[in-house]
Amino acid sequence: MSRRLQAPRGTFDVLPAQSAARAAVESRARELLEAAGYERIETPAFEATELFARGVGESTDIVQKEMYSFDDGGGRSLTLRPEGTAPVCRAYAEHGMHKLPQPVKLWYLSSFFRHERAQAGRYRQFWQVGAEALGSDDPALDAESIVLLALLLDALGARDLRLRLSSLGAAATRNQYRAELQAHLRAHSDALADEVRARIELNPLRAFDSDHSGTRQVMATAPRLVDRLDAADAEHFAEVCSLLDEAAVSYELDSTLVRGLDYYTRTVFEFSSDSLGAQSGVGGGGRYDGLVERLGGPATAGVGWAAGVERILLAAGEEHPAAPPVELYVAIDEDGRRGDAFATVTAARRAGLTAQMELAGRSLKGQLKHADRLGARFVAILGARDTVLRDMQSTEQETVPADAVVARALRGLRGPW
Ligand code: ATP
Ligand code: MG
Repeated sequence: MSRRLQAPRGTFDVLPAQSAARAAVESRARELLEAAGYERIETPAFEATELFARGVGESTDIVQKEMYSFDDGGGRSLTLRPEGTAPVCRAYAEHGMHKLPQPVKLWYLSSFFRHERAQAGRYRQFWQVGAEALGSDDPALDAESIVLLALLLDALGARDLRLRLSSLGAAATRNQYRAELQAHLRAHSDALADEVRARIELNPLRAFDSDHSGTRQVMATAPRLVDRLDAADAEHFAEVCSLLDEAAVSYELDSTLVRGLDYYTRTVFEFSSDSLGAQSGVGGGGRYDGLVERLGGPATAGVGWAAGVERILLAAGEEHPAAPPVELYVAIDEDGRRGDAFATVTAARRAGLTAQMELAGRSLKGQLKHADRLGARFVAILGARDTVLRDMQSTEQETVPADAVVARALRGLRGPW
């Protein structure tokens, strides 16, 4: 026997038992976001590697070690998308969406790829639902974006959620702060974890993420970015907070919140769930006012988020919505008419009924058992001459002309049999 093949490490099959829950995520996201003016966008599964190098940032974990990059055979480096914001910003510039009335609001639900250590809640191909609003720096857009994610997670039943919120200020403030933080880290470099020390130049902000005890002590006295915001950024952030208060969405201010992507300016936020264990991040995002320009487009403000579909489902617990019940099951008697059965099931589907027919060569008894298992409301039994329609609820049955089965079942479904 040949070796049995398996799905690659860090990937998974979405089996029928899970697909209904995933479909529910998609339909709630669509309802909620489209009602708020977001329109769906789908970008390619791979992009030029340069898009992520420039967009996400050379110093980030994603670009440094998590990308699936490959040569397309023509000397171009392509990368399976690790995130959705940079591709959406590329599409915004490429299609001249800055000429549309602003803000332009886009949402997506797609799969993403990151080469990381596979574990519960952390995969190499995973799904994200995301929303991006481009072309306005109004703090109300930040607040709206956050509120929409809060509403979506709530509607999907995600439990034990916490929202952490901070502001990174504008690029200039951040650069100044970065230098100040680097000086602080250098002054205490002996106490730092090796990997933190190695990244003082490249990404000093990540030091806040470390759980190394020496590093944590150094970080406890480190300068905080929120204390360095200029007046305009501080005012912007205060307005975001006050609008969230208006919307009664609770949050914690967390000046150590560091998002793993370089493009954020001003507002950053993250929802996590205490019921998820180590992989607690459910979704996060923030404002990225320089990103479209960094990708060669016009100067454009933007704010958005992405949430992991698998983590949402984990945080919501294992609930498998049942498959829709079968309204009509078409059974075939020993010497019954297969052609008529096929015509009947097709007519039923045309009329909008959920319908199935016998396809596995079961005995009539076996077919009735199977129909019962499917929760069928009506079973049509096509014999050599007659067709009998049985109501599985009342167990009443009657002989009907073959071409009247669908109409009879429809009537029975609508009213008393
Ligand atoms: P983490 O801290 O868990 O690595 P992240 O900061 O890398 O998350 P983002 O880039 O902000 O995550 O992506 C948004 C969301 O996508 C995360 O909050 C998480 O729910 C989900 N996500 C990210 N990476 C993965 C992954 N490898 N597998 C499953 N879901 C993921
Ligand atoms: Mg990550």
